[in-house]
Amino acid sequence: MKFQRVCVLGSTGSIGENTLDVIARHPDSMAVYALSAHSRVERLAAQAAATSAPVVIVVDTAARARFIQAWPAARPLPEIRVGAQALADTAADPEVTTVMAAIVGAAGLPSALAAAQAGKRVLLANKEALVAAGGLFMRTVRNHGAELLPIDSEHNAIFQCLPTNASASAPTEPAKGVRRLLLTASGGPFRCTALDQLDHVTPDQACAHPNWSMGRKISVDSATMLNKGLEVIEAHWLFAMPVDRIQVLIHPQSMVHSMVEYEDGSILAQLGQPDMRTPIAYGLGFPQRIESGVGLLQLAALGRLDFELPDYARFPCLRLAFEALVEGQASCVALNAANEVAVDRFLKEQIGYTQIARIIEASLDRVARQSLPGPDTLEDVLELDARARGIAIELCTSVV
Ligand code: NAD
Ligand code: MG
Repeated sequence: MKFQRVCVLGSTGSIGENTLDVIARHPDSMAVYALSAHSRVERLAAQAAATSAPVVIVVDTAARARFIQAWPAARPLPEIRVGAQALADTAADPEVTTVMAAIVGAAGLPSALAAAQAGKRVLLANKEALVAAGGLFMRTVRNHGAELLPIDSEHNAIFQCLPTNASASAPTEPAKGVRRLLLTASGGPFRCTALDQLDHVTPDQACAHPNWSMGRKISVDSATMLNKGLEVIEAHWLFAMPVDRIQVLIHPQSMVHSMVEYEDGSILAQLGQPDMRTPIAYGLGFPQRIESGVGLLQLAALGRLDFELPDYARFPCLRLAFEALVEGQASCVALNAANEVAVDRFLKEQIGYTQIARIIEASLDRVARQSLPGPDTLEDVLELDARARGIAIELCTSVV
């Protein structure tokens, strides 16, 4: 395996920490080149010290000062780069072979796109980048010879089950012989909660995912199943799959990470513990298999695997995501932006849980359905994203 120098964007998050864990297991074949963090600068300093990263990226000069204060005095400082442009520049740095795009939200789009444009191996955890700019992103991967490896567990599972490693080279049509993609979802913490109780659930309850340990935003998305909706859009772009050939299945045990259904009636599945180090190790090691630190899956102890269809009355956000994908790129940008605003307000206890879906739906009505054709450049996407956020913020005070 060629030696990899990895830029981990969003290193202090859940995916970032898991990525550093896997990299540390393979000192002969990979090393950290750059790390970035938004608010947890002290954690970033500890990570940079532990990995001897030559470069770190922080948001502003205040964060730079905090980093220096947290740095162990006896050691030479790493190079500290500052600001959003530094994220994109470092993703494209000639020293970097591999970029882990693990910033949360559309804030991760410019740097993920810069990595693709520079022809890197892109390990894509940041699904919001594909939701907001799927066509542009995949075109960039194709045109610049980047290698795209999906890290989201469902897409990584599908990638492993496809005949040719579609998505690494950004396909323009579905893989031959494939009938459908079957995306599994746990159903989250409220799969069995009485519908009339959902108005009263708290952020901590929404973040208490039954099987996965993740950042707070994606945990709320998993509770509403907007996360699965984002993943349907993500699968559409990664595997060039029409929306009517993507099915969502609730699978409460989260052991089957997704499946590919073939024309001959075969279904191939990828199974494993719900631990993101498996897809991360797959992406880092590709095309080889490397050690990830993940334990064995004891099928006999598990005993059974259950599957059921999702209920749109319980999960209206999933319906909204399917609708947005059918409508086009503008709706997908608005869906994602409104969700980011609504989830942030919910986590701050400024709106209730069931308002999230209502704010997204009202935002789609106000923004996207009148913005056709969809945005096609990074600037257009960011402009529409900002407009949709403004409208969603207004709606947070009026939609109940
Ligand atoms: P997290 O909240 O734990 O971490 C987010 C990281 O992004 C942090 O390092 C933070 O500093 C950085 N960040 C946040 N806002 C930023 C901004 N405006 N500019 C620059 N950096 C910023 O999130 P996570 O759970 O690790 O998820 C990261 C991404 O991976 C998300 O897109 C999520 O959907 C995706 N993902 C996560 C998991 C998981 O298991 N956690 C699984 C699949 C996909
Ligand atoms: Mg996922």
